[in-house]
Amino acid sequence: VHAVSLPERAAVVDLAAIRHNVRRIAGIAAPAKVMAVVKADGYGHGAVQVARAALDAGASWLGTAHVSEALALRAAGIEAPLLAWLHTPDTDFAAAIEAGIDLGCSGWELEHIVAAARQVERPARVHLKVDTGLGRNGSTVESWDRLVGEAVEHQDEGLLRVVGIFSHLAVADEPHREETDQQLDVFREALALAEDAGIDPEVRHIANTPAAFTRPDAHFDLVRVGIGIYGLSPFTDQRSPELGLIPAMTLLTRVANCKAVPADQGVSYGLNYRTDDPTTLALIPLGYADGVPRVATGGPVRLGGATYPVVGRIAMDQMVLDLGTRLSEEERAALVGEPAVLFGDGHDGGPLADDWASAAGTINYEIVTRISSRVPRVYV
Ligand code: PLP
Repeated sequence: VHAVSLPERAAVVDLAAIRHNVRRIAGIAAPAKVMAVVKADGYGHGAVQVARAALDAGASWLGTAHVSEALALRAAGIEAPLLAWLHTPDTDFAAAIEAGIDLGCSGWELEHIVAAARQVERPARVHLKVDTGLGRNGSTVESWDRLVGEAVEHQDEGLLRVVGIFSHLAVADEPHREETDQQLDVFREALALAEDAGIDPEVRHIANTPAAFTRPDAHFDLVRVGIGIYGLSPFTDQRSPELGLIPAMTLLTRVANCKAVPADQGVSYGLNYRTDDPTTLALIPLGYADGVPRVATGGPVRLGGATYPVVGRIAMDQMVLDLGTRLSEEERAALVGEPAVLFGDGHDGGPLADDWASAAGTINYEIVTRISSRVPRVYV
């Protein structure tokens, strides 16, 4: 990424990296198809742009949490099969059915979906969800029989079509854990029960990114991949290159100030950091308003071919690096305006979103997703 033509702060999204990642995962998943999960504005990367790139590269489905997110994709002219799975009674099911959006259904939604289908005089496309152990959405195993029975009745009435049956995994990012085997057993039983009841779903799906990589027995007809298409690893012990993935987002800005300070200079609110020796401080104009976690002191910033940790507290708009050396006035002046990269694809040994996740005690998913709307997305 060449910074010269970029705004003073940007989340640069490499759509070629997204396409590469989708092709990589499609290769692993085949013959199962790929659903690109683009909820939360494409994990912060831009849902519409990511959706188009993913479809280009061979994804055949899109997934969002909310119907409103799915409607935004339709409004942008995207016509691919599209599933939204997290609803409340206020969800606009009628708009979803009219827009040809598939609806996840865990139980209570069924009556709402059927009422909406009657209203718009068009059958709803439904994916029945069974909770195989995650304890979040999805019908309990005990209620599955009843949900399937009711869905079959409404299908026979022509009010809906059961297009899919699905579930979600709890610990696929920890491949040694046996709960995934148990979840897959429960899923297979739920599928058998539905098939016995006369349901013949087009797609059966349970795999997320980690299961796409480690559990071929979880692929079924479709893998729902989010973090992998953004080029990030869901595993704590493997990074993107080991999975053949390329991180798509680079978060960068330019140095806003650079100054010489004496030893024992306090830095940022609370003065929690004090310089050991006379040194140079560089000011980076990104902060928690931009979505960088305030707790991530120590997070790495790449500047002029070296990487420096953030010292002192991260503030709303800015953070400080201790360059650990005394620079001349000319050198300091030259640094102002230089590109500073918080994370990117790591090709030059630069930091990854994973490093910021470690500094903040969180996961890379949260680091990219929380980059705020104050940071323009730039597509390359
Ligand atoms: N399926 C569902 C239901 C999800 O909620 C998510 C995201 O959390 C995914 C798939 C994608 O998961 P991942 O980003 O780990 O691939």
